[in-house]
Amino acid sequence: MIEISGLTKSYGSTTVLDGIDLQVPDGRIAAVVGPSGAGKSTLARCVNALERPTSGSVTVHGQDLAALSGKDLRRARQQIGTVFQSASLLRRLTAAQNVALPLRHQGVAEPEVRRRVGELLERVDMLHRANHYPSQLSGGQRQRIGIARGLALQPSVLLSDEATSGLDPESTRAILALLTELRDDLGVTILVITHEMDVVRGIADHVAQLDHGRIVEQGPVSDVVRRSDSPLAQALLPMPP
Ligand code: ATP
Ligand code: MG
Repeated sequence: MIEISGLTKSYGSTTVLDGIDLQVPDGRIAAVVGPSGAGKSTLARCVNALERPTSGSVTVHGQDLAALSGKDLRRARQQIGTVFQSASLLRRLTAAQNVALPLRHQGVAEPEVRRRVGELLERVDMLHRANHYPSQLSGGQRQRIGIARGLALQPSVLLSDEATSGLDPESTRAILALLTELRDDLGVTILVITHEMDVVRGIADHVAQLDHGRIVEQGPVSDVVRRSDSPLAQALLPMPP
């Protein structure tokens, strides 16, 4: 369970997040949508403890991240996998080596690393590209390797920041299917940041619209789409063919 309450983040005199309240129950997918500059990525960075809230709190499985430090913070962060848009793979490492990185960093023994990397690559359907370098992979393939790496430490929470933007529809579908599978098979709690309403309609249980650092509308997707005077419901309507 991710519980964000009264989360405010300021840089100097600029307030980027302003009193965010959002809860994602275990095994659910919540989507955060909103225009460029709304504060979506900043929110993601607060949820994986890359940033500290100026005020308010982010609680993951009952632990207030701001109250943790040292080993406790590292342990809490291990439960939170993150996948970013550009996947930020290391260019000089192969797909398999990129996925192995968090495991090696943890000091996991080599035979176990190899076994887990094989499993992860299989899960994202990339076993056949294990020895390719990032420059030899398509955008969607790099993204899948990024997801495999994000899953390496078996997180119970996954943050995805624009993981599908810029991908073709087929790669997008494959990644969304993977996220849904993680929720349904492993009970992973997922926060998806996106500007693509197709993504929200396709996989999210809950949706929140962020604008200028505030949540202007949120609710279960099935409720939101039925709100007659809701801009978010309008945005969620499928495009006419
Ligand atoms: P996009 O859809 O373009 O990715 P976003 O919703 O993810 O946008 P953020 O990256 O969270 O937006 O940025 C929100 C605002 O916070 C922006 O105006 C940005 O300039 C500002 N901002 C983000 N990080 C910092 C920082 N480290 N210092 C100062 N301002 C920042
Ligand atoms: Mg962003």
